[in-house]
Amino acid sequence: MGRRFASILETVGNTPVVRINKLAPADVNLYVKVEAFNPLGSVKDRLALGVIEDAERTGMLKPGQTVVEATSGNTGIGLAMVCAAKGYPLVVVMAETFSVERRKLMRFLGAKVVLTPAAARAVGMMAKVEELAAKHGWFMTRQFDNEANAEMHSRTTAQEILADFEGERLDYWVTGFGTGGTLKGVARVLAKERPETKIVVCEPDCAAMLSSGTVQPRNADGSPAGSHPAWQPHPQQGWSPDFISRLTQDAVEMKVIDQIMRIENADAMRCSKELARKEGLFVGITSGATFAGALRVCAEAPKGSTILCMLPDTGERYLSTPLFADVALDMTEEEIEISRSTPGAWLEPA
Ligand code: PMP
Repeated sequence: MGRRFASILETVGNTPVVRINKLAPADVNLYVKVEAFNPLGSVKDRLALGVIEDAERTGMLKPGQTVVEATSGNTGIGLAMVCAAKGYPLVVVMAETFSVERRKLMRFLGAKVVLTPAAARAVGMMAKVEELAAKHGWFMTRQFDNEANAEMHSRTTAQEILADFEGERLDYWVTGFGTGGTLKGVARVLAKERPETKIVVCEPDCAAMLSSGTVQPRNADGSPAGSHPAWQPHPQQGWSPDFISRLTQDAVEMKVIDQIMRIENADAMRCSKELARKEGLFVGITSGATFAGALRVCAEAPKGSTILCMLPDTGERYLSTPLFADVALDMTEEEIEISRSTPGAWLEPA
């Protein structure tokens, strides 16, 4: 990225694909696409830029108009960057359960953050956004059903993958879904341009909505009518809200998904930690979860297969979450021993 850009927004996308050297079996080629390289550290920077610029083009968003969105955090952070750079006020509606770092980051970037109770779930967050937009005349980005979300992934993420694997094998592409923007946008391009690439979709084991085969109850306007029956709360933040979004449903109906995998919370956490310790890749919980799915693909894939796994965001966003629960703040026994091994500066353990 060593060149000059007209604004931070030009640095969105073009994320690197990195080979996994220690954690993958020797007889396959496992690569990860590291979305933490986006300016605000997640895949959602793409969506934020995509939906705002689409709304500018179509005239849905007027200069200076307030933008409002319901988000688990990364979309809000991406939107806060885009709105700051372009000069739109932003109001983010977020369930109280999402990590504190995310709230503070959005406020640091100038956004207003309105919290909703955990019990109201994602459906409750969205209802609040509708109320606020109707009352104040704000622009709703509607990440869960805005086609501009998937379109941005078809135009950027998918094209980057095609270019990076041009003339080479790409046997599997592994992803999860939140809005389903990544899934729909990339899968439809791969299905057309690389029909041999199998599309593998991961979801939390305790919120296995796609695996269940049960259709999402919907209102007449297509919006989700309450939570999906197979959904339960899970710590894989950013994946599987309590309903199957329009964009995810589209991907299912397009019949481009070859395999659906259920990922246990513990596997997601373990893989995120192993990526950090063994590969130096510092990524979040859903990255660990996608990687857990990719390792399962590796174990079953024919020798010589090439697998690409999405890593949606940075690990820095999870300091206050279960991902860091067993990371010590005070010196451990081992660290005290290192300290005691020489006579210099010595801090009495708490
Ligand atoms: N992982 C994380 C951490 C996310 O924030 C998101 C977006 N909600 C996703 C995965 C899923 O991406 P998408 O919305 O494109 O399905």
